[in-house]
Amino acid sequence: MSVGILGLTEKQFLAEADNLSMTPAAAGRHWRQLFRQGTLPPEIQGKVKIPSMPIVRREPDGDTLKFAQQLEGGLETESVILPQRGRTGRIRTSLCVSSQVGCAMGCRFCETATLGRRQQLTTDEIVGQWFAARHSEGRSITNIVFMGMGEPTDNIESVLQAIRVLTEHGGPAIPASRISVSTVGRSQGIERLAEFANEPGFRQLRLAVSLNAPDDAVRQTLMPVNRAEPMADLHAAMSAWPAGNRLPILVEYVLIPGVNNAPGHATAVAKFLQGLSVNLNVIPYNPIRDSPWLAPTESEVVAFCAEAREAGLRTKRRRTMGRDAMAACGQLGNPALKRERPTRSK
Ligand code: SF4
Repeated sequence: MSVGILGLTEKQFLAEADNLSMTPAAAGRHWRQLFRQGTLPPEIQGKVKIPSMPIVRREPDGDTLKFAQQLEGGLETESVILPQRGRTGRIRTSLCVSSQVGCAMGCRFCETATLGRRQQLTTDEIVGQWFAARHSEGRSITNIVFMGMGEPTDNIESVLQAIRVLTEHGGPAIPASRISVSTVGRSQGIERLAEFANEPGFRQLRLAVSLNAPDDAVRQTLMPVNRAEPMADLHAAMSAWPAGNRLPILVEYVLIPGVNNAPGHATAVAKFLQGLSVNLNVIPYNPIRDSPWLAPTESEVVAFCAEAREAGLRTKRRRTMGRDAMAACGQLGNPALKRERPTRSK
């Protein structure tokens, strides 16, 4: 039986050396060669399995590249490469990865939600997105964000194992401090992430929570998850996120004009987040197909951010990138797949 090498850490692969009739030293060499150079010597090619995930679409938009890979069952996963210049002038290149094809969470501002959940991705299919970005596209990836298709806590063990592989020194070598996991904020999922983040080597893993509302009334119109788990539960889960010298929790706020940007909303958000170590990330809404809402105007974004800062929140707005290629936040979701399934009523 062949072994799914992209889903294993070096140590886990070494444990398979006997089964693969190779010495641990050779196994380590092959594992590192695959991750660093993207190649495997011919003698072991039949013994290990690399998921077949050819890139079937590339949609560049400026510096941003959205690409789709076809999975063995025929569905596609989508990822986005986003280069950004940091404060020091250095270019950081984030890879936004998917953890599922589609998503079951039904957030109304999100293109992926219209697909429903179609498939859980295995660890090697998640790492396979990094592999394609690095070795097919030749991009040096410095950051990973689990903000593509899917709710990571709905496929949590595959996501955590992918993080173990992505942080490996002899492999992708992406520090945990440069990996963010973005969730709709289900308590159980945050608890599991917190448990993982207490393991040595993962203490700097970054939690991102998709809040998007000043109160339950607004949040449940946007995010069905809020009916089962209202904001008080979310607050309790965020309070239990391990503190210490960790990076603040990133609170994402998709700003939708006429829905969650009224005067007073940012102040209510600040009140809700009081006592938590957080940074607020305001994401101007990117209209999805057939959207009932427009993107906010510049002055609406500025006004919301100003009120949030005034209320004491460290606030940043996310630069809108990739809107033309439907590669921006909340816009992933293959249109062909979507046509196969009736769109949910809004
Ligand atoms: S925003 Fe995230 S959790 Fe919500 S539907 Fe979209 S992919 Fe799923």
